[in-house]
This record gives sequence, C-alpha cells and structure tokens, in this order.
Amino acid sequence: MRAVVIESEGADPRLLEDADESLLSGEVELDVLASGLNYKDGMALAGTGIARTHPLIPGIDLVGRVTGSADERFSAGDLVVLTGDGLGETAHGGFATRARVRPDALVRLPAELSPERAAAIGTAGFTAMLAVLRLEDAGLTPDSGEVLVTGASGGAGSIAVALLAGRGHRVAASTGRVEENGDYLRELGAAEVLDRRSLSEEVGRPLQSQRFAGAIDAVGSTTLANVLAQTARGGTVAAFGLAQGPDLPATVLPFILRGVTLAGVDSVACPLPLRERAWDALAREIDVEQLDSLTSSIGLSEVIDHAERILAGQVRGRTVVEVTQ
Ligand code: NDP
Repeated sequence: MRAVVIESEGADPRLLEDADESLLSGEVELDVLASGLNYKDGMALAGTGIARTHPLIPGIDLVGRVTGSADERFSAGDLVVLTGDGLGETAHGGFATRARVRPDALVRLPAELSPERAAAIGTAGFTAMLAVLRLEDAGLTPDSGEVLVTGASGGAGSIAVALLAGRGHRVAASTGRVEENGDYLRELGAAEVLDRRSLSEEVGRPLQSQRFAGAIDAVGSTTLANVLAQTARGGTVAAFGLAQGPDLPATVLPFILRGVTLAGVDSVACPLPLRERAWDALAREIDVEQLDSLTSSIGLSEVIDHAERILAGQVRGRTVVEVTQ
C-alpha cells in the first residue's frame, strides 16, 4: 500500500510506496478512495503532538469502499465515510490507499454524494454542519438576526457560510483576507464580509453592542472573547477551533447578564446517530457546484508540503487528497 507515515515521534513524515499493510488493524478493511487535508492534519504532519502513537499514518478523514468486514453491519462494496474517531491521531488514518477501521463511527455514504465530494466535505464540512445544527437546536432561526462565521475562508468556515446562507440566515463572514477572498465569501452566500482584525487584535469591553444573533467560531482566543461580547441576549456561539489560539481571555458577563451560551463542538468523538443526522443533512443541502468551486485537489505526494500552507492560513476552502496520485 502507498501511505504517508510518521515513523517515530519528531520524525519527518515520509511517503512510502510499499508501506507494510500489516500495520493496520480494525474490523472493517477498505480501499481508500479519497481523503482530505484539515488543519489538524497540518498539525500532525508538523509534529505538534497530534500523532499519539507511532508509526502512524496521518489523515483524520477517509472515504472508502469496503473490501471485507468482520462486523455484520458492513460488507464488501459498501461506500463509507469516516471522520475523526481517532483517525490520524491514535489510529491509522486516510493518507494511504488501504485502511482498516473500527465500525462504530462508520457512516454509509449518502447516495447523493460521490466519494470525492464526501472527501471535499470531510471533517471541516461535517463540523460546520454540527455547528449549524447546534445553533438551530438552540433556537436560532433566520428571523433571529445576523450570524457570524469566523475563520470564514478556511475549510470549516467556508462550508459554514454556505450552509447557513442555504438555510436562509443572514451571514457575516470574518476573514483576514478581505481583499483576496471577499468576492469568494459573498459567492458562498455571505451578506457582509468583516476584517478579522476588528475581532482578533485586542480584547474589547466584556459587553459590547449586541451585533450577532449567533456565531460559529473556528478561531478561539481574543476573537472568541469579542464574539461572545457581541452576541445578542439569549444567543449561542458554537465554537470548535483554535486557529488564532487555544486561550479564551473572556469574562462571564455575556453568560450571566445576557444568557449567552458557549456551545463546544467536538467532531472526533461524535456519536453515530448525530454523525448520520449531519451527513444526511449535508447530502441534502450542500450545493455541489459551490462545493466544487471551493475545493482543490492534491496527490498524496503533495500532502507533506501542503501541511505548512494550511498552518500558515494560506489555504482557501477545502483540499481533497487523491491517494493514488
Ligand atoms: P483552515 O486552516 O482551513 O481554516 C482556518 C481559518 O482560520 C483560516 O483560513 C483563516 O481564515 C483563519 N485563521 C488562521 N489563522 C488565524 C489567526 N491567527 N487569527 C485569526 N484567524 C485565523 O482550518 P479548518 O477550517 O480545517 O479548521 C479550523 C479550526 O477548527 C482549526 O483550529 C481546527 O483545528 C478546528 N477544528 C476543530 C474540530 C473539532 O472537532 N473541534 C473539527 C474541525 C476543525 P481567514 O483567512 O478567513 O481569516
């Protein structure tokens, strides 16, 4: 099998053309048809502690065709998608032509989605949908007011903008690349494009003007503190990312004086019924032309170079990894 492998802690990742398949373990074996590059993969490839076992095949997403299964829920020929669940962290992931996985988080590919488009959605799009569901389950409707998305040009942010706009919300997209990506974000459905510096540079007052009915945050740190301070009474902020940093220099005032909710979103350990709900909704709602327009493709041989670019915030939208290339 072809695979990117991190042999030991601190070792540079390498592409092996004949990696040993006996590395793999798990009840369901499959041919990987496509994977995707996420921020977390960039962190794993850069050796920042994401890989918790060695040797490790990174790649937190995979879409594959089952070739054999010891679990009766799956059989040869089934098309499946797996995101998170320890892939690329504690278990071998999607940057390979073969995989063996545990069945408990494995989702059957919805008929509407090709393997490449499911990989284009990947963890980023799946997490964006989890965040949207979280806001709407908390009561957000298109009539509630404007919804903010931070890190909007990134993979999760881009898809969050498109999904919210598709559901009829008025979306404000915050980006550090207004000039470069303003039109792109408006095409995805953003009604307004904000320069992220107004949120990211310094922590403002703990309660600011109540600008947003809700928010999806990919960024954390000072940005999230300001987002909480600008969220309207009763609003929810769904937070999943740390692209600016893992700190949160905030006060409790938005929670106790405005009833704001900070809702954490974890895609990795997401239970199967919620995974199926999110993929079902993605299959119904994703505009495939829009998805294609925000997706680029790279071969497995380019993954290692792309890791630095995603960590530097230079990648726009989603990147599919063609594992046979
Ligand atoms: P991307 O790299 O594709 O997007 C991140 C975006 O954040 C960038 O495009 C950029 O957008 C913005 N950004 C980057 N650096 C900074 C900075 N220093 N300050 C403010 N904004 C910044 O990553 P993903 O979309 O794949 O993931 C986004 C985040 O969410 C990551 O932290 C990732 O680890 C996390 N994540 C967490 C998940 C979970 O289950 N909790 C699942 C998926 C992702 P712009 O140029 O528009 O400002």
